Amino acid sequence: MHPMVKPALRRGWRDLGTVQFGMTPAHALTLGPMDAATGGLLDLLNGTRGLPLLRAEARRLDLPDGRVDALVDRLARAGLVDDARGGGQAADALRGKTEVLRRLRPDLASLSLTTTEPGGALARLAARRALRVRVRGAGRVGAVLAAVLAGAGVGEVEVLDEGRVRPEDVAPGGLPAESVGEPRRTAAAAAVRRAAPDRPPRRAHSPGSGAAEPGLSLVILAPRDEVAVHAPDPRAAEPLLASGTPHLYAGVVEGTGVVGPLVLPGETACAGCLHENRTDRDPAWPRLLAQWRSGGPRHAGACDLALATAVAGLAAAHALAFLDGASPSGTGARWEASLPGLTWHARPLWPHPACRCGAAERAGKKAEAEHTPTRGLSRATMAVQRPSTERAREAGAARPTGTWRAHV
Ligand SMILES: [Zn+2]
Repeated sequence: MHPMVKPALRRGWRDLGTVQFGMTPAHALTLGPMDAATGGLLDLLNGTRGLPLLRAEARRLDLPDGRVDALVDRLARAGLVDDARGGGQAADALRGKTEVLRRLRPDLASLSLTTTEPGGALARLAARRALRVRVRGAGRVGAVLAAVLAGAGVGEVEVLDEGRVRPEDVAPGGLPAESVGEPRRTAAAAAVRRAAPDRPPRRAHSPGSGAAEPGLSLVILAPRDEVAVHAPDPRAAEPLLASGTPHLYAGVVEGTGVVGPLVLPGETACAGCLHENRTDRDPAWPRLLAQWRSGGPRHAGACDLALATAVAGLAAAHALAFLDGASPSGTGARWEASLPGLTWHARPLWPHPACRCGAAERAGKKAEAEHTPTRGLSRATMAVQRPSTERAREAGAARPTGTWRAHV
């Protein structure tokens, strides 16, 4: 262990005996009491020294034996310390790729804020490189989103779409003006390559484009058609539900940007649940939908470029949080923002009993189980003031990167 106080958290003394790590309420916490001599040790915890060397330094400073170990242990329990040599084999391999790490350094620092175990941030960044994500739709949202995921370290991002790039598909970070006329799929693949020139080599897959193909950690549906954004077709998601593939919706319809829901098949509400809920609320919904979906050449819909870019970014952040093992707020909700006010708000989406995805049944069983009294476990909070209990809860619920067990 080469302990390193997480450099992503700015440090400050609140008074002579209390250190605050971090500035923002989401991740800041305070640690105390701490005397000045022990505080001086903090500067030595920068990842360049192992514990034996740190103990020797402490003796030189006339600190009692065991002080270093106690400090490191205390910091580690508070999730404040990283291990400059930790994270396992995949992390070691990534450590050898200095160019990749240089580019992803801010992402690594950010991951250190949401991981508690020393070495965990690099382990998660390394795990991203082994993941495979598919984006359906290479428009203003889909192509940018795919490029962001690749740029953030996801090893394999494939984009599916049909037809050729049209001028209105062009977006900064997505499909460039030079690609107009090229097949959308080819142009999107090039955008993904540009975003991450150092990504790992593509693995061989069995041919076919079925959603049931193994190895997909997530599918993102980012249709160019605004009716498909507003009212995602449940039939299109059937193979994803059947194979237990998590999927996320994102897009722009008229002046509204939409991110979510993130569907965990059989656990959280899906496109079918959305349709059933809307039909319950508005008897005219099916009739309107039939008209919106019915043929005739479609003229170009509205799609504000800045809103599309924001949607791509937020959807990518939800996707990454999920892939990294957290439970982002897009599960069971659609985040929406409309021009020109642009206030993001979550529209909750409940599993519907008429939907065949099975989420409603599962939610019913879970509610039943939650009514069974359980003994609450108290958390050790001694000497650590955590402004929010959210992080601890999220950390407790974290899954291994890129995994999700389907309950279908
Ligand atoms: Zn459903």
